[in-house]
Amino acid sequence: MTSPTTITWHAHEPLAPLTSWRIGGPARRFTVVHDPAALQMAVAQADALGLRWFILGGGSNLLVPDHGWNGAVIRYRDRRCEIERHGDAGLALIGAGAPMAGTARRLAHLGWAGLEWAEGLPGTIGGAVFGNAGCYGGDTASTLEYATLLVDGTLERWNIARLDYGYRTSALKRRPGDAPRPVILGAAIRLQRSDPVELARRMELTASLRRSRTPWGASCGSVFKNPPGESAGRLIEAVGLKNSRSGQAMIAQEHANYIINLGQASSDDVLRLIDQARERVLSHFGITLELEVQLL
Ligand SMILES: Cc1cc2nc3c(=O)[nH]c(=O)nc-3n(C[C@H](O)[C@H](O)[C@H](O)COP(=O)(O)OP(=O)(O)OC[C@H]3O[C@@H](n4cnc5c(N)ncnc54)[C@H](O)[C@@H]3O)c2cc1C
Repeated sequence: MTSPTTITWHAHEPLAPLTSWRIGGPARRFTVVHDPAALQMAVAQADALGLRWFILGGGSNLLVPDHGWNGAVIRYRDRRCEIERHGDAGLALIGAGAPMAGTARRLAHLGWAGLEWAEGLPGTIGGAVFGNAGCYGGDTASTLEYATLLVDGTLERWNIARLDYGYRTSALKRRPGDAPRPVILGAAIRLQRSDPVELARRMELTASLRRSRTPWGASCGSVFKNPPGESAGRLIEAVGLKNSRSGQAMIAQEHANYIINLGQASSDDVLRLIDQARERVLSHFGITLELEVQLL
């Protein structure tokens, strides 16, 4: 890694505008870094100051509390994308701060298939690697060759076995709070040559499906994971919680696994709806709903 320039820390940076839910208070310290060396320096500085740190991607799967985060938030924005070509196959080496959907489009435009399922998927490569994001017939686990990570100051390459993926989860997401927290620096995604026109057609189909199924308004996507063989949205709808409100948060009419911020929702508004959905689904169906969204 080359030596970075200085890290600029901002005090009391509001986090709400950096999340898709538009909810949450400020971070005690905040910085944006664009390459692995700067990221490593930011982490080292936060450690030296005794501050807990948190890596923010696109903020599209995150509930930030109203009182904010009494530590350092580091937003990682490395968006580089290089392609290694091996005949009709390829490997895209993508920075963890690259947007998932934008990168999928860019690759498709260049005639590379592999990430087209991610059309319209909010968030970054890093967030997708962390939580095994997936949709419309694909997921991160099935397209990833390996991820590069910064673990306790050391650069490591983790393959799929080590990432131990499951449905919307990974070894990184399951890691206990006191274990060293790996930072995802980038991902190597497997590609195949394909017809860009055909890829564009398939992605437009996905985009229109997504538009028709996504409730309007600020959200984090699905709040809960689907229990095995079930749909969390169907269960929440069946217990009569569609359109339920807590303050400025509302369970969506179009899809009951979405909680919409009607404008000024607080994290407590959202948490009350989460508790209500969990309690009712448990008492009616004996099923415990597990959160998909990350609570900061
Ligand atoms: C409208 C809408 C629709 C959605 N649809 C889907 C869908 O179809 N399928 C799906 O799977 N998800 C969906 N989501 C959820 C979200 O898009 C994914 O979970 C996404 O992968 C989150 O990425 P992010 O960069 O926004 O992560 P963030 O929300 O920023 O962070 C989520 C977690 O990842 C960690 N993280 C992020 N980057 C790094 C890094 N570089 N190193 C270490 N940890 C990191 C964070 O620390 C945090 O714990 C949807 C969300 C919205 C708002």
